[in-house]
Amino acid sequence: EVRPRFAPSPTGYMHLGNLRSALYTFLFARHNGGKFILRIEDTDQARYVEGATDVIYRTLRDIGMDWDEGPDVGGGYGPYIQSERKDMYLPYAEQLVREGKAYYCFCTKERLESIHQDGEFGGYDRHCRDLPAEEIRKNLDAGMPYVIRQRVPLEGSTSFEDAVYGTITIENKEIEDQVLLKSDGYPTYNFANVVDDHLMGITHVVRGNEYLSSSPKYNRIYEAFGWEIPTYVHCPLITDETHAKLSKRSGHSSYEDLLDQGFVSEAIVNYVALLGWSP
Ligand code: GLU
Repeated sequence: EVRPRFAPSPTGYMHLGNLRSALYTFLFARHNGGKFILRIEDTDQARYVEGATDVIYRTLRDIGMDWDEGPDVGGGYGPYIQSERKDMYLPYAEQLVREGKAYYCFCTKERLESIHQDGEFGGYDRHCRDLPAEEIRKNLDAGMPYVIRQRVPLEGSTSFEDAVYGTITIENKEIEDQVLLKSDGYPTYNFANVVDDHLMGITHVVRGNEYLSSSPKYNRIYEAFGWEIPTYVHCPLITDETHAKLSKRSGHSSYEDLLDQGFVSEAIVNYVALLGWSP
């Protein structure tokens, strides 16, 4: 079954880039007789805007993009709101620790701030990567705060295929031992995204290319678990006539902006569709 998903964050308005991801995901699902899946990614509380989930529902409905699975309609792979899935991630992070593919890191914020300036090893200097088992046990027993980091191989490289950009390869030594689980027990976005896509049986990931540079990290997680990697479809940035990213300030960066200016919904959809297709 073809199961692409649209995974917006409720940040307030429907940027045209998001609308494009939604439209292409929807069209791809319908073309292949698959499922169009809606997942709300609301774990970044700093970006959360009250009422923004309604904007997402309203826009998709307005355009006629009915989702087959999602927060309000359900489906066999719920919950479809990321914050309601928060207890699902810890066992997966612990599994990787047991298998030696992840480790407890007890570095303090002060220490991390001092090393980040050097920027080696993709950021974190891997200080806790090989702590003796005894010390780890002692720290955990003492209730010391910790994060769980992935143990990324020091050698070799990671390659992945993107349906738009082709094959991309990055040296493993440039990939940070990324945090999977934060000290408050919540997953990082990168970790949650991969675990969710896997558990929801997602086959295609369509999104903006700002996630392209994180994709090697996602792949390292899939590989650590031995899970199948979905097909990535990263769409290039939508820019304005000066080649700048469409920003909120420009006044024509969102679906709502264009409606306000008098464009009808069908014309906006047509415009967004034509950004990725031409006769
Ligand atoms: N929640 C992310 C956003 O709205 C999308 C990331 C993804 O599709 O993987 O920017």
